[in-house]
Order: sequence, then structure tokens, then C-alpha cells
Amino acid sequence: MNEHSTSLGVALFSDGRRVRNPSYFPLKSNEFLPFHQGDVYDAAFMIPCISPRPLHALSLDELESGLREMGEPAYRAKQIMEWSYHRDKRVASWSGMTNLPAALRTKLEAQHPIRLPEVVQVSGSRDTTQKFLLKLQDGELIETVLIPASPALYGEESDRRTLCVSSQVGCAYGCKFCASGLDGWKRHLTPDEIVSQVLLAEKVSGERINNLVFMGMGEPMANYANFIKAITILNAPWGVGLGARKMTVSTSGLVPRIRELADHPLQIRLAISLHGASDAVRSQIMPVNQKYPVAELMDACSYYCERKKQMITFEYILIEGVNDDPSEARLLAELARGIRAKINLIPYNTVEGLPWNRPSEAVQEEFLSILKNRGIAATIRREKGHDIDAACGQLRRRVSTASLLPGSL
Ligand code: SAH
Ligand code: SF4
Repeated sequence: MNEHSTSLGVALFSDGRRVRNPSYFPLKSNEFLPFHQGDVYDAAFMIPCISPRPLHALSLDELESGLREMGEPAYRAKQIMEWSYHRDKRVASWSGMTNLPAALRTKLEAQHPIRLPEVVQVSGSRDTTQKFLLKLQDGELIETVLIPASPALYGEESDRRTLCVSSQVGCAYGCKFCASGLDGWKRHLTPDEIVSQVLLAEKVSGERINNLVFMGMGEPMANYANFIKAITILNAPWGVGLGARKMTVSTSGLVPRIRELADHPLQIRLAISLHGASDAVRSQIMPVNQKYPVAELMDACSYYCERKKQMITFEYILIEGVNDDPSEARLLAELARGIRAKINLIPYNTVEGLPWNRPSEAVQEEFLSILKNRGIAATIRREKGHDIDAACGQLRRRVSTASLLPGSL
């Protein structure tokens, strides 16, 4: 069996090969932490380095050096990026890049195909939340949600359009309340699959996206290298040009990745899916807490705040009878005070097939007032997309469980 173990940024195979960027090698669906020294993966779960590499997964430098190797001038790379990302262009095929010689287009098309997913369903309306169901090259479905005029939830500007993007197909972390984890983990999204969610949402809606949150399906920090590549492209002036402070990554608490991101130069914002303030409550609903308990998570959060000179956000879903006790609110206030975090309370969005419910409004308000009385910046986020299954992973699940085959929509 061809096994490999990995350490930061490098996959080491049993035959001695080392591969940088191990993100192209998905972990087993039941593994908790990908790419850590000592983790061993079965060959059956690996896919080879993607080749040819899609255009929307490339940085300007990579494209320039590829062109140089082909004997082409570097300025072509800038032209190609402009055709790809400039809002008036964004061509869906190489043939649309009309100022490029035809022979070069043909060569580049073979090396760097344009692989935009297919938009198979759009639900909601322009004034409310719009949800896009996208079909990837291999037929997998992901979703992207556009939320108009959202309040400033993560310290970004208010009254702007926020796009919620997916980072993986499925999720390996198995939080008990979440639709994305119900069917386990399928695979990572590649950088172009992340970037193209933004391109397609802007194209279909005709709107410009101002804020981006990594709160769709999947755990972005478990797909770290691809996530970093995607935000680099989304942020770059030659790319989508979205400010790093307009992007928020949400994580269930992968401590080593939080620290790594803290050291990364991009000023992206951080939200933690906390959902429990004590280990007892959190471990009950989030298995990742057994690996990274609350105290360790808080240390990593403090490190993030220090390094980035930013405030972070705790997300806290209120689930009836599970984490909505006033004692948990008091503990949560302590945690938030410790690192000056802001809290978003989210009344639980019911998921078909799961037994959980949201507490009554009275319980929600009491929980909020305990936080506020302790001087904590806290808000309740009333889900805009409840009626169209906007919570994490719900639309895809509904489509899959209804056996609507991709393409038949
Ligand atoms: N895996 C990452 C990012 C995706 S989840 C994370 O967990 O942070 C985005 C957010 O939606 C998380 O805070 C998650 O806990 C929340 N969520 C999942 N299921 C939900 C539900 N049924 N109702 C409300 N929020 C939910
Ligand atoms: Fe995965 Fe996040 Fe859902 Fe947990 S809440 S199962 S980490 S997507």
C-alpha cells in the first residue's frame, strides 16, 4: 500500500517522494487532522496532483514563469489575468481572449483549462438570500449563498453583499448539529473551485460582492493550502481584488492552522464556531473539541488577535437544551472577555433528520442579556435564508437525498 504521512506543507510518501502542497491529497474521511506528521493515508483516498492545472488556480507568478518557459513574454500573463478577473471581461473560455495569438491559446488551453462549475440551481431572489447550487467537473455538488445588505457581523462594512463560500465537498468533522457533516467528507475543493464560486455568483446575480465568508460546506482550515491559494487570488490586484479584511474564515477550531494563519501576511478575519463554552458541552456536539479543547483553542485565538491586531468573532448556535443554559452564557462571557471577542448568537436552523431545535425567543434573549450585562459585544443573527435552506450544507443535502441527479435539475 502506498502510504504517506505529512508535515507542514509537505507530503511524504512511503517510497520517499516528497510533494509540496499536499492539499491535492485528501485525507481519509474519518481522519480528524489532515497533514500532520504521523498521519497515514490509504492510497485509495488520494488523488494525484491535478494536472493540467486550471487557469483559476494559478497565481500571476506561476502563469508568468509558465509563459517564460514557453518563450512567451511575461506581459501575456497580465493580459490573461485581466481576461479572467476584470469585471468587464471574465471570459469563460480561452477563445474569448481575443488579443492572444490563436496558437498560444490552444497550447494554454491544454495546460490550463478553464473549469468553471455549472450553475444547476438558483433559489431565492435578488432582494433576499440567493443560493447557488454548483456542479463540479466530477459531478459533485457544492453551494454558495449570496446574502444582500447584511449587517456588519465580522467587523466588515455593513449594508453590503456577502457571499458565503464552500471549501470542501462534505465535511470530516462531524459536528452533531450540522448538515454538511451528515454524509461525511468527500474531497477538498481546489483553489479554482473556491475562486469560481465568487466569479459565478457575481455573474449570475449581476451584483458585486463586497464581503466573503468561508462558512459554506466544509472546514476551510482542513483544506489549508488550497484555501490560502484561493484567498491569495481573491485578494490580489491582478485577481478579484477583494480586500483581505473583507474576508472571514470560519473554523471549528483547528488550533495549528489558526496559528499558521495568524503568521500569514493576509489580514483575513477569523470566526470561531464555538457553540459551547465548556469542554463538557462543546465535546458533546463538536468531536474536534476532544483534539483541541477550549483552553487550547483560546490560546490560539489570543495568538491570532495579537499577531493580526484584530478582534475575532465567536459564533454560537443556540440549540435547545444543549448549550442554551445561563451557566454556559456566563462561561462564554468569560471566554469572550479574555480575548475581547465579539459574539454572534445564531438560533439553530433545523436540519431534516436531526433532532435539534432552536430555543424559544425568551431563552435566546436571556442568553443574549447575560452576555450584554457583562459588557460583551453580542448580537443575535436572525437567519435570512432559513426558508431556502441557507444553513451550511442543507441545500445540497436536500438535493442529494431527493435523488435528483446532478444535471437533472
Ligand atoms: N467548518 C467551518 C465553516 C463552515 S460552517 C466551521 O464550522 O466554522 C459555518 C457555520 O454554520 C458554523 O458556525 C456552523 O457551526 C454553522 N452551522 C452549521 N449547521 C448549522 C445549523 N443547522 N444552524 C445554524 N448554524 C449552523
Ligand atoms: Fe464541518 Fe463546520 Fe459543519 Fe462542523 S460545523 S461539520 S466543521 S462544516
